[in-house]
Amino acid sequence: MATVIDGKALAAKVKEQVRQEAASLERKPGLAVIIVGDDPASRVYVNSKRKDCAECGFVSEEFALPASTKQEDLLALVGTLNHRDDIDGILVQLPLPRGLDEREVLLAIDPAKDVDCFHPYNVGQLTIGEPVFQPCTPGGVMEMLKEYHIDPAGKKCVVLGRSNIVGKPMALLLLHAHGTVTICHSRTPDLAAECAEADILVSAVGKTGLVTADMVKEGAVVIDVAMNRNEAGKLCGDVRYDEVKEKASFITPVPGGVGPMTRAMLMRNTLTAAQNHQK
Ligand code: NAP
Repeated sequence: MATVIDGKALAAKVKEQVRQEAASLERKPGLAVIIVGDDPASRVYVNSKRKDCAECGFVSEEFALPASTKQEDLLALVGTLNHRDDIDGILVQLPLPRGLDEREVLLAIDPAKDVDCFHPYNVGQLTIGEPVFQPCTPGGVMEMLKEYHIDPAGKKCVVLGRSNIVGKPMALLLLHAHGTVTICHSRTPDLAAECAEADILVSAVGKTGLVTADMVKEGAVVIDVAMNRNEAGKLCGDVRYDEVKEKASFITPVPGGVGPMTRAMLMRNTLTAAQNHQK
């Protein structure tokens, strides 16, 4: 029976460390959050970021723009925030409504304020192993592994999913930690065979029930990044938790696993940005 990795407890610990470090700065860290349109899920995320900022003693400023916002106006706002001395981090809540060019907006953010670690400069720094910021979700997973003394060095690590936000940076962080990494995606012919090799299995696909117990090696560490809704509308992951926990050595629950850590890592990145900015 697996040990359950408690993301909620670890996130509280990380946020408390961030709060203490932030308190020693001359100026409170400032995070600007831009939300365009009225996507309900985005609204929930933005509200939790505001709450996290308050817990960590940060100043948060929210810019809620209508879905009809023009690209040039959004870029102008980013430009203004890039130059504001009281703003250390800028976050644009994705996805943006149709008609807005996400890539151009992310490129416009000053890399020193790119606390989501989405700017190509920061992605490049991450690739060469000199990251300024940790990508929030994969960074949160690495913190969980560290907390539970799980060392990826020399281990077979299998990442399901190759998105720019989760899969690819997750694979890079595991590689930098000296894991032997396989990345699987929708064209992988035999997912079960790849998974069965994994000492550490990270699933970031978005398909409820994808990972079954017979795909998991006895004693594997299983990290479920996904946040799906099942037929009853309940939040759940990719992994069939009840059956896989009987076989794994460690497992993350959904909710209460990777999700809270993603939020905590955003706070840590904002602190890092503020520390660098105030040097
Ligand atoms: P995404 O951009 O949709 O990427 C999904 C990936 O899964 C793609 O690379 C896709 O392959 C792959 N895939 C799809 N079907 C597959 C299959 N049957 N077998 C193997 N791979 C398959 O999603 P994402 O943004 O990375 O998010 C993934 C999940 O993580 C979602 O549930 C999302 O809600 C969750 N998430 C959670 C957090 C958190 O804080 N916990 C943060 C971000 C995302 P192709 O590239 O070939 O299409």
